Amino acid sequence: MRQKLLLHVCCAPDLTVPYLRLRRHYEVVAFFYNPNIHYDGEYMLRLGEAERLAELWGFELIRGEYMPQDWFAAVRGLEDEPEGGRRCRLCFRYRLERTARMASELGFEWFATTLTISPHKDVKAVNEAGERAAASYGVKYLRTEFRKRDGFRESVRISRLLRMYRQRYCGCVFSMR
Ligand code: SF4
Repeated sequence: MRQKLLLHVCCAPDLTVPYLRLRRHYEVVAFFYNPNIHYDGEYMLRLGEAERLAELWGFELIRGEYMPQDWFAAVRGLEDEPEGGRRCRLCFRYRLERTARMASELGFEWFATTLTISPHKDVKAVNEAGERAAASYGVKYLRTEFRKRDGFRESVRISRLLRMYRQRYCGCVFSMR
């Protein structure tokens, strides 16, 4: 029997390839948890696209809570950090801690994140955040680098085919600058 894996989803295009790769080995449930996304309209757009993909491909997607004020409080003092800096590392930890907690509450053995498909993200920092979160909640984190083996290019191809919305900024208000 395949083990259950909770997959943190940052957006629908980034979910495509990770889901297709992981479902060969795990029973995958997606978890959309991104209080970093601004503004509300943008958040709903990204969530809606992830839900559309889940319905199209027939897998479960859990909606995480959306509390951007808590995320702002967590990154206070790091507003002027450049993209890829300390604010981003904290943002990875924030989202993966919540995912690890959810995986533990639901009795999942594993969790992972779609964040490592992006050519703009520090994969080492993402995986370190995942492992720290795993240690806090007693679940296993699956280290990945989905952008390898042409993962990112394939995700762009699939998302264009499905006419998915592709955002132009990472997510937070600071990344819109
Ligand atoms: S730029 Fe992206 S990863 Fe960095 S803090 Fe903003 S939303 Fe999070």
